[in-house]
Amino acid sequence: MERARICLCVAGRSLAEDAVHVAALRKRIDIVELRADFLDPAELAQAGRFPGMVGLPVILTIRNPPDGGRFVGEERERLALLEKLCGGGFAYIDIEEGCVAPSLEALARAHSVRIVRSLHDLNGVPADLPARLRAMAERHGEIPKAAVTPRSASDLSRLIGAIDDLGQGERVVLGMGDIGFPTRVLASRLGSAWCYVSPPGEAVAPGQIDPQTLEDVYRFRATGPATAVYGLIGNPVMHSRSPLIHNSGFAALGIDAVYLPFSVPDLPGFWGVADGLDIRGLSVTVPHKQSVMDHVKAFDEIVSRIGACNTIIRDGEAWRGTNTDVEGFLSPLRDAFKGTIPAGLGATVIGAGGAARAVVHGLSSAGFRVLVLNRTPDKARALAEAFGARWAGLDEGDIAASAGFRDLVVQTTSAGMAPEVDTDPAPDFPFTGREIVYEIVYAPQLTPFVRRAQTAGCSVVPGRRMLLAQAMRQFHLFTGRDYPKDLLPELEKGFD
Ligand code: NAP
Repeated sequence: MERARICLCVAGRSLAEDAVHVAALRKRIDIVELRADFLDPAELAQAGRFPGMVGLPVILTIRNPPDGGRFVGEERERLALLEKLCGGGFAYIDIEEGCVAPSLEALARAHSVRIVRSLHDLNGVPADLPARLRAMAERHGEIPKAAVTPRSASDLSRLIGAIDDLGQGERVVLGMGDIGFPTRVLASRLGSAWCYVSPPGEAVAPGQIDPQTLEDVYRFRATGPATAVYGLIGNPVMHSRSPLIHNSGFAALGIDAVYLPFSVPDLPGFWGVADGLDIRGLSVTVPHKQSVMDHVKAFDEIVSRIGACNTIIRDGEAWRGTNTDVEGFLSPLRDAFKGTIPAGLGATVIGAGGAARAVVHGLSSAGFRVLVLNRTPDKARALAEAFGARWAGLDEGDIAASAGFRDLVVQTTSAGMAPEVDTDPAPDFPFTGREIVYEIVYAPQLTPFVRRAQTAGCSVVPGRRMLLAQAMRQFHLFTGRDYPKDLLPELEKGFD
């Protein structure tokens, strides 16, 4: 089976504007879809010039509003326009599943223009999708296409099942939106003839990305039917840097694998996706780090100890789980202490959420005496008691408890990260300049807390080191290979 092509969807008001986008992205694309329904009326009449202007195979599409388009005329006007333009050098015309147009079809055949027969659902994945796709696939010489909108992981699972059901024939089937995103990147793996992309920042349909991101972050040209699939499950996940980290590693080592964000509102529905794509390994993030444990047959002691699992690996029919956050946290800390952490140091941990559990466990196991300070004191107490640590609140008076625990200060709250970029979670914490400060927020790098620590002269361990270290450990668990360390400086820069 051929690898999927990249199809740039252009939807400007003029042909010249569309041609500029094609010229700018030409090296990265194979075909173009002209969304002629977005053109100004005078330009629409001239659309037959477009294939000659761009010199690539072009799909002509004139879409009505119910299918996500902007054409406002009568149906007979739309069909007349398609017939008029059909002989103008277009390689394909896209018409809808229910479109009855025998004379247009005959004209297309006469001009060797392929018909893309398309089905759209902007609100869900139709229950009868498999039957409708099969019916479209039976139309001689046409390419069946479906663009539907999974609202849950179980919708995505049904969509993947419908694609499998089609066998080997030529088709384009994709899920729109964040949940459907993997079907775009996995076009070759799922047997789609092409993947739609858009000029940067100009997505025509939800979930479309630009061709540079598709190629450089998601390894589109390197993926094929046998590519191993890895990913991240959580909600939200689309902002994650993990795809760039893992995919850069696969590319550098020549491993036939790809790592994708899976936006999963419903964890039970996701396991059908995992089986349908034969996913080999997953990173797990909020809110599934605890609930994922219900599905994992075996997990190691560290998972039981901190009650959270951030990595699962397929083991035959089952999954086994571990947690790389603890090692991810400790590895940059050892570097900060030049390899060996002296015994008996005192550490203050600010925050008592999920990440703080891994941090407190790591610090205790590394021999620190630990104090937990949290805005909600009850949570500080619960965490501290689980690990034999001390605890207090975060008010000015509470912070005095940190005397004797200030060799290291670890900031584990989400304050400082968007949307709270201007928030210092502990504005009363008195830095002297002698503390080592570890901020686990990884973007932005300069949080208000870090700025204050640096001004006082403290040395700072940035959160991106932890993110990279836990990902490197996952990479090793996924592939059995060490992550190529020479990629790290460039990756760290890319976080800004
Ligand atoms: P979480 O479970 O939701 O916990 C959030 C914590 O932040 C709670 O202790 C909460 O206090 C506290 N908090 C939130 N806003 C605050 C504010 N304005 N002032 C004071 N305290 C505040 O979140 P999480 O999973 O632990 O993640 C926390 C942060 O760690 C996130 O920024 C995440 O991106 C980062 N992280 C980084 C890495 C890495 O590899 N670098 C790994 C994991 C997590 P209350 O209990 O009072 O609500």
